[in-house]
Amino acid sequence: ARKQERQEMKARMEKAVAEGQKVIIDLDFADLMRETEQKSICGQLAYSWHANCRAQRPLHLVLSGVQGKMKEILDKQVSGYRNWQATVTEQPYVQHFAEQKEKLVYLTADSDNELEELDPEAIYIIGGIVDRNRHKLLCYNKAVEQGISHARLPIGDYMKLASSQVMTTNHVVEIILRWLELKDWKQAFEAVIPTRK
Ligand code: SAH
Repeated sequence: ARKQERQEMKARMEKAVAEGQKVIIDLDFADLMRETEQKSICGQLAYSWHANCRAQRPLHLVLSGVQGKMKEILDKQVSGYRNWQATVTEQPYVQHFAEQKEKLVYLTADSDNELEELDPEAIYIIGGIVDRNRHKLLCYNKAVEQGISHARLPIGDYMKLASSQVMTTNHVVEIILRWLELKDWKQAFEAVIPTRK
């Protein structure tokens, strides 16, 4: 029975790769993280993957920039990620998706474009970085320099976070998964971000 369950899961996730919403996790930031932060992003990747496996509408996850230091860290910290039904590429996403550059949308809390809904044709990018806000505007500036679109999640409308509207990588993945299921930002945020009552 276990074996059958595993096969069903594998088939489900292969389907997600074929037709799911594309979401890139940009892992080109190893040099900007301290060692504890590198461990933390590895944990977040594992959480994101498990959330994806449990989701009603799983994503086609793309891990880009998996090379050099970052690859070394992942190989050590994230067991089995090479076997995930996901795309893992050493290339930066702009290269990997060079033919579809107009579809790329970098999600960043620093954008003025508020996302109303997810476009199934768009390819969303989430920064795979933990930096406790040290590197301000990092992903926003990257998107602008590359000439790709950018947008922020409509979090301000629904929740007041204590100090900032910057969420962790895995929270953003989970909010996207919930939105695809519920088509409602408020419910998606509330399901993912713990609120203090
Ligand atoms: N200093 C980093 C912050 C990393 S937070 C930066 O320049 O982005 C990890 C990632 O989560 C971000 O790169 C972004 O892709 C995503 N993210 C966090 N909060 C967000 C928000 N409110 N709207 C859209 N994306 C967000």
